[in-house]
Amino acid sequence: MVRVVVIGAGVVGSAVAAGLTRRGAQVTVLEARTPGSGTTSTTVAWVNANNKTPKAYFDLNHAAVWAHHRLAGDWFFPAGNLEYAVSDEHKELLAARVERLVGMGYPVERVTARMALTLEPDLVPPPAGTEYVFFPGEGHVHAPRLLGRLLGEARDRGATVECGAEVTAIDTTPAGAKVTLADGRTFVCDVVVTCAGRWTQGVAALAGVSVPMLDPAVSGQVTNGFLVTTSPVPARLSRVLTTAGLNLRPDGGGRLVLQSLPLDDRADPAADVPGEVVDEIMGLLPDVLRATEGARVERAVVGCRAMPGDGLTVAGFADAGRRVYTVATHSGVTLAPLLMDEVAGELFGEESALLATFRPGRFTDGTAGPAPTPARRPGQQ
Ligand SMILES: Cc1cc2nc3c(=O)[nH]c(=O)nc-3n(C[C@H](O)[C@H](O)[C@H](O)COP(=O)(O)OP(=O)(O)OC[C@H]3O[C@@H](n4cnc5c(N)ncnc54)[C@H](O)[C@@H]3O)c2cc1C
Repeated sequence: MVRVVVIGAGVVGSAVAAGLTRRGAQVTVLEARTPGSGTTSTTVAWVNANNKTPKAYFDLNHAAVWAHHRLAGDWFFPAGNLEYAVSDEHKELLAARVERLVGMGYPVERVTARMALTLEPDLVPPPAGTEYVFFPGEGHVHAPRLLGRLLGEARDRGATVECGAEVTAIDTTPAGAKVTLADGRTFVCDVVVTCAGRWTQGVAALAGVSVPMLDPAVSGQVTNGFLVTTSPVPARLSRVLTTAGLNLRPDGGGRLVLQSLPLDDRADPAADVPGEVVDEIMGLLPDVLRATEGARVERAVVGCRAMPGDGLTVAGFADAGRRVYTVATHSGVTLAPLLMDEVAGELFGEESALLATFRPGRFTDGTAGPAPTPARRPGQQ
């Protein structure tokens, strides 16, 4: 039986652990804190390939959208995404994106204002001339439920999940690997899979492997973003709603999760969310959704994206001896059910065509692209 240590119990590590146990691996998940306490706890959790480039990254995310539909359960809300554009600039960007997505077989429909209001009856009607686009294949996820489902499946199939288990050393030999924790415990295995999110660079370095990640402490708005969760409101919202100034989705119990990408350049992970930013985000809400006046803020956080150096996913063996496999990605919620199968398959010798472009070796052989630019546009997360 193949023995695998998975480092990190975020949505990615939990998915990989479940996929590996499906194939009969003996899995130990080592999590420094508690499951889902990393970036998985600060996410919009919008499942989409909407504005993902280049083509290989779009294809990966597009396949992952359908993997969510296949996995399906009480954590997945396949209600689509409604976007509207009011300004000429946004309309132009949206029209170009729609044309590109149609050309790539992605489900997308231009809809009328009446249809938009049928989909979301509490939408504050934007001005005449607004363009509405519906992306029916997309959805959103309740991340803690998905995480519980994935770890539950892994545990049912024999996996052990160790919390408070911070990995401090990874030693590889031609015969296997040894993982050491801060408390001195050691775990011997055949392969280590690092799923350490934004901590990937440090964890991979423990094995002598280079996987550059953008540092949330210095990288500004590409890696950091505000998220505000409201108190329960009596408004109807069934799906992800994206506009130029505000993205929102339901969060259960009448709560809404709000994100304003244009404000993200002020997000500092070392500081609390400034009161004026919270006020600005909350001030946008009643202009977008009725019955939200008087909503209170239950939670306001700065989320730190897990962003490999060129902004794209990393997935593959990172050492010549194939003892250390690294997975790191922004879009981890979208990709999780796909990574579950594709990464597990790779450990059992089935090379994934979808992951072929995303090998960690691109950072050492010089073929990695440049870091993503800070400009963020509607349709992103
Ligand atoms: C503002 C914001 C909005 C987002 N919106 C979306 C979206 O709409 N759709 C989408 O698909 N994605 C979105 N994302 C991204 C998505 O949330 C992440 O890609 C995903 O949660 C990453 O999961 P992960 O498991 O890789 O990382 P994490 O959840 O961070 O898990 C990594 C785990 O590794 C553990 N760890 C680290 N070091 C060690 C160690 N030495 N030993 C043991 N354990 C260790 C950590 O404690 C952590 O629990 C968003 C992110 C942000 C910040």
